[in-house]
Amino acid sequence: MQTIAERLESARAEIVQATASAHRPSNSVKLLAVSKTKPVSDIMAAYEAGQRSFGENYVQEGVEKVQQLSDLTDIDWHMIGPIQSNKTKVVAEHFDWVQSVDREKIARRLNDQRPAHMAPLNVCIQLNIDDEASKAGIAVEQLDGLVNFINLQPRLQLRGIMAIPKANPSGEQQAKTLSTLAELFAQYHTSLSNFDTLSVGMSSDIHQAIKHGSTMVRIGTAIFGKR
Ligand SMILES: *Cc1c(COP(=O)(O)O)cnc(C)c1O
Repeated sequence: MQTIAERLESARAEIVQATASAHRPSNSVKLLAVSKTKPVSDIMAAYEAGQRSFGENYVQEGVEKVQQLSDLTDIDWHMIGPIQSNKTKVVAEHFDWVQSVDREKIARRLNDQRPAHMAPLNVCIQLNIDDEASKAGIAVEQLDGLVNFINLQPRLQLRGIMAIPKANPSGEQQAKTLSTLAELFAQYHTSLSNFDTLSVGMSSDIHQAIKHGSTMVRIGTAIFGKR
């Protein structure tokens, strides 16, 4: 069986390869290691292998891990799961990023609850790009309104867009979805400073996502094993 360090190395190699074949600069795509449901010891193993960005889906579990690993001050903790409004406070107090912001109420609460001694909270807007009933995120038509709202929140730093495209799409549908995301991202990237993140791409679509301009891929199972 492969170790976490070995699987992490394979994931990195795949990103390097996809980035090169897309003729993009090396280091233009970050790897977010999605550690949901996995023990702190697994996060430590990845950390020791050089990984610094981790994604968690569940608020309570994520907060406990952030607290347990609080000595590792150079970790970037990303909340990537849905957040109920009664959970925004602990999220604002413990995470560095929230990629799953999908409404004004959540944005306002995260802003108001971000502690003064911490840097502004980095946020991405989650888009439901394939309009799936089962998925969180806003529709493309609502994007502009939420971008403007978040830009008015002094304790939030709007970093970009996160999306989970439909599973097992046809090649044509996948290309269309990823192109739409790339266009939306480019539009805001040129007009807003620090809007530098297009978080799209998981194990099954890394190559296509990177070809279409993803700047952050989120990988869980391929690094930490099955959940
Ligand atoms: C779980 C999860 C991932 C990682 O999924 P794997 O299939 O384990 O690689 C990525 N993004 C989000 C939003 C997730 O919830």
